Amino acid sequence: MRLPPETEVIAPVTDTDIDRAAALVGGARRLVVLTGAGISTESGIPDFRSPGGLWTRYDPRKLTFDRFCASAETRRLYWEMGNDLFPALRDAHPNTAHRVLAALERRGGLLRIITQNVDGLHQKAGSSPEAMIEIHGTALEVGCLTCGARQDRGPVQARFAAGEHDLRCDCGGLLKPATISFGQAMPERETVQAFADAAAADVFLVVGSSLEVYPAAGLPRAAVESGAALVIVNREPTPYDDDAEAALHGSSGETLGAIAARLGLAITDA
Ligand code: NAD
Repeated sequence: MRLPPETEVIAPVTDTDIDRAAALVGGARRLVVLTGAGISTESGIPDFRSPGGLWTRYDPRKLTFDRFCASAETRRLYWEMGNDLFPALRDAHPNTAHRVLAALERRGGLLRIITQNVDGLHQKAGSSPEAMIEIHGTALEVGCLTCGARQDRGPVQARFAAGEHDLRCDCGGLLKPATISFGQAMPERETVQAFADAAAADVFLVVGSSLEVYPAAGLPRAAVESGAALVIVNREPTPYDDDAEAALHGSSGETLGAIAARLGLAITDA
């Protein structure tokens, strides 16, 4: 039985752990990677659940999709939160972990990076759009809930800052950041593709995810049940550690950097 996280002693990452993870990742022919908020904290973007994370500053119960659609006050709160968060997302730079994943794609053998993140940092690091599935959407764009038209978020967020508090598309529909909110349907095509990729993986690597948010957290299970070896890099234990061939409890940048060094991968700025 697993102890509560606050009492569990977390073993540091050892050279043997790095060797094992590097052998699995380096030997993969169909590597599928799932990334979460923990890959981007070293780029200055807070995760949800760590101390000081976003949920300590905003109440998610007030920001569900149904409330967004039903209440002008919720929409105002949502865009106000964007005033606070969007500039940091827009201006963030990828870190070593993002760059290592881009290098693994260049090297070959990487089938997909499925990210729960909405920050676009994988693409900024050089990962190709074809390799990416943004399963929770992107915070860098805005979509119309009626006609589906997409646009860059910057000008829309500027309209809010200038005093336009119920933002509408030219068609009259509600505009919403193109992220998946609590209670909002997952994007069907992306979700189906992500589960197909997980089932096709020979190695499934998780980086910086608590593996507590479903359906994304079901992907490692799908991969393992189809015969993939599971490797987890996360600062704290996850519910899937017992299923992993290697579960490394360290910083995503440092750990992936060490794995890349073992593999002789050249890490470059995009
Ligand atoms: P999470 O907040 O539930 O979990 C993040 C995990 O990463 C935690 O277990 C934490 O211990 C670990 N972590 C934090 N910093 C780390 C580091 N430097 N190295 C290694 N591990 C680290 O995030 P989640 O599992 O991705 O799921 C929550 C939701 O949060 C997702 O839906 C995602 O869309 C959203 N989110 C995204 C961003 C972003 O785009 N950067 C930021 C916050 C939340």
